[in-house]
Amino acid sequence: MSVQEKLESIFTSVVRRNPGEDEFHQAVREVLDSVAPALQKHPEYAEAKIIERICEPERQIIFRVPWEDDRGEVHINRGFRVEFNSALGPYKGGLRFHPSVYLGIVKFLGFEQLFKNALTGMPIGGGKGGSDFDPKGRSDREVMRFCQSFMTELYRHIGEYTDVPAGDIGVGGREIGYLFGQYKRITNRYESGVLTGKGLSYGGAQVRREATGYGAVFFAEEMLRADGGDSLDGKRVVVSGSGNVAIYAIEKVHQLGGTVVACSDSSGFVHDDKGINVEVLKHLKEVRRARINDYADAVPHATFVAGRPIWEVPCQVALPCATQNELTAADAGTLIAGGCTIVVEGANMPTTPEAMRAFAEAGVRFAPGKAANAGGVAASALEMQQNASRDSWTFGHSEEKLREIMQTIHARCYATADEYGMPGNYVAGANIEGFRLVAEAMLAHGLI
Ligand code: GLU
Repeated sequence: MSVQEKLESIFTSVVRRNPGEDEFHQAVREVLDSVAPALQKHPEYAEAKIIERICEPERQIIFRVPWEDDRGEVHINRGFRVEFNSALGPYKGGLRFHPSVYLGIVKFLGFEQLFKNALTGMPIGGGKGGSDFDPKGRSDREVMRFCQSFMTELYRHIGEYTDVPAGDIGVGGREIGYLFGQYKRITNRYESGVLTGKGLSYGGAQVRREATGYGAVFFAEEMLRADGGDSLDGKRVVVSGSGNVAIYAIEKVHQLGGTVVACSDSSGFVHDDKGINVEVLKHLKEVRRARINDYADAVPHATFVAGRPIWEVPCQVALPCATQNELTAADAGTLIAGGCTIVVEGANMPTTPEAMRAFAEAGVRFAPGKAANAGGVAASALEMQQNASRDSWTFGHSEEKLREIMQTIHARCYATADEYGMPGNYVAGANIEGFRLVAEAMLAHGLI
């Protein structure tokens, strides 16, 4: 059987064994499409069935989360933690609270996380979790009760040396605080390294909150630099989303001299040609937890456009920072026509496979999330490092570390793509390099 046929048969069996999990299939397909050259070069990977083992999570946990709302009504949600792969370190990855969460989403995220974490060069394995709980419109106390109930089951599966969750969509500083409080209460241990994304008042790390967005922008800057010494200075940028990743991506683009002219949420987008006012956006989203249309009330020269794709706003650089499959082939066509030449994924898998193909055909440089948004989890690993040594670093030092890590990830992806004869192909570079790092560790551990 040729390597290609072997990969096809592995994919068929992944689909058969994980029915209905479309996002997981999509994430696996993308990696399998890239790794054939690595398998040709390393026949020992195929002999040890590394790919087959990588595609099967080490452990999948599904649990009931009962909680009571402010009126006394009881709700039942479903909780998940998929402990995907611990070859490189304790399982590491965020928790997502969103009504769309089901096993297929958690598995796609866990699968991506494994390669992303490998690319950071830090000692962290891959995992992901979450719940179909919808925090939107819920009071603070309801969110707290939900987090406490969620942790009352999750605590037995996690630990500093076992599995270290963090945030993702719907899980920010507030939720991590409630989760940590409940873990501490149940276990009677002040185990700082069990969760990352903690508040600065109780063991959190500087730059963790900013890291995913800042990191994606550092990655974009590296891509531009690699391409004839260009930079973000003076560039027109569109950032989808308005959550944690988007906010800090916008902040960093502005610090580097670019202008972000639009951002969005699920209701629509705002267009502000003078550049999105980050302070207004932070207040809206982090303090008031409001919708993006309120931005246009606070900034009169901005316009809110309901129900249209943000990619209609012409730009040179696009940073999809909202959610999976938000950027379709039609959107890719619109972006290309509008003069966009570089796309950097701040979110996890925001670009559909068809859109990725359209970018490749048009010569648009494209960075996949597992490389470009690795700054968040890398900063989490720095937080674990500080917790383990009971240390806390300054903002400047932490940001410098983050920048170095993003430069290294970029250099590794770039060099790997070159080595395999696909210069400038960051998808191939990230997938092959991430896969190789995990495969080497798995080989060393024997058949487990
Ligand atoms: N949820 C983030 C990601 O997708 C961060 C995970 C973490 O810090 O563990 O990478």
